[in-house]
Amino acid sequence: MKQGGPRLLQGAAIAAEIRGQVKKDVVAFKRRYGFAPTLAIVMVGRDAPSAVYLQQILRSCRNVGISGRLIEIPGRVSAAALRHRISQLNEDPLVAGIIVQMPLPKRIPLSAVTDTLDPAKDIDGIHPLNAGRLELGHQGFLPTTAQAAVELLKRSGIDLEGRRAVVVGRSNVVGKPAAILLLRENATVTICHSRTRDLAAETRRAEVLVVAVGKPGLIGGAMLKHGAVVVDIGINVVGDRIVGDVDFESARGVVSAITPVPGGVGPVTNALLLTHLMRAATTQAQAAEPQRRRLRQAGNP
Ligand code: NAP
Repeated sequence: MKQGGPRLLQGAAIAAEIRGQVKKDVVAFKRRYGFAPTLAIVMVGRDAPSAVYLQQILRSCRNVGISGRLIEIPGRVSAAALRHRISQLNEDPLVAGIIVQMPLPKRIPLSAVTDTLDPAKDIDGIHPLNAGRLELGHQGFLPTTAQAAVELLKRSGIDLEGRRAVVVGRSNVVGKPAAILLLRENATVTICHSRTRDLAAETRRAEVLVVAVGKPGLIGGAMLKHGAVVVDIGINVVGDRIVGDVDFESARGVVSAITPVPGGVGPVTNALLLTHLMRAATTQAQAAEPQRRRLRQAGNP
């Protein structure tokens, strides 16, 4: 057991700092444009963990003065009807950003959402245009969870340049973008997945390990390098507890730093989403300014 245990990479303080800035941005936005930006959250069907997560986002919106609108759609909805609803939100001038809670019911292809969202309102970076921008290193909306994992490391003063980083999980929304962002920080990145032949051999080489799988306890202490820094993105409901993908108890004696679950990546994800919303709102309001000015001059409010 390491003396004193590992450093806990807590997300709360980082999230509070990010939210503090957002709060100021919202005040400035309202003063300038006269309305509060709106985040639309689309929930398809009923999924208890998702509902908890969505309530947290809505509470964060309220706390910083952003208007949160929850759109509940029955799980039996058709792909065409879901597309239509998202298109309506795309057209709604009050809605600055849209997120759609995953996972979708199995019948509905993910592309029904990703390809319909207006890329300018896609604040969780799932539209192919934003995914392409991420890959090319161009300015776009980053997938928030992946960004939060890397932001947490950077703001905690963890050096990434030249380090051997391993990402477990290759989903388009979390694992793959996390790997690209680590590469941007000049880490040497390996991506593992369900077909990786010897996962432990790969994770044991990681100086920085990012895990995004969704399997509680997948990574035990024996699979970790001594002194590694571990970011556990997994969120799993086990009984009445929420746990990550890393077995915290066996990991804590081996690693130098680790994110707790809950309380690590989650709060930072939530806060970064608000920054994306404000960026979308500001860009859209600036673009609409000339038209608003013309309407005012014509005597309309
Ligand atoms: P996902 O789409 O199900 O992807 C899981 C990935 O894990 C896949 O790439 C899969 O490989 C890989 N995998 C599955 N079993 C494996 C194994 N035994 N060994 C190695 N890799 C394995 O999940 P996701 O959407 O990326 O989410 C991952 C986790 O992050 C979930 O627990 C989710 O709840 C959590 N999450 C957290 C936040 C947050 O804010 N903290 C936000 C979003 C998601 P294949 O590609 O080969 O199938």
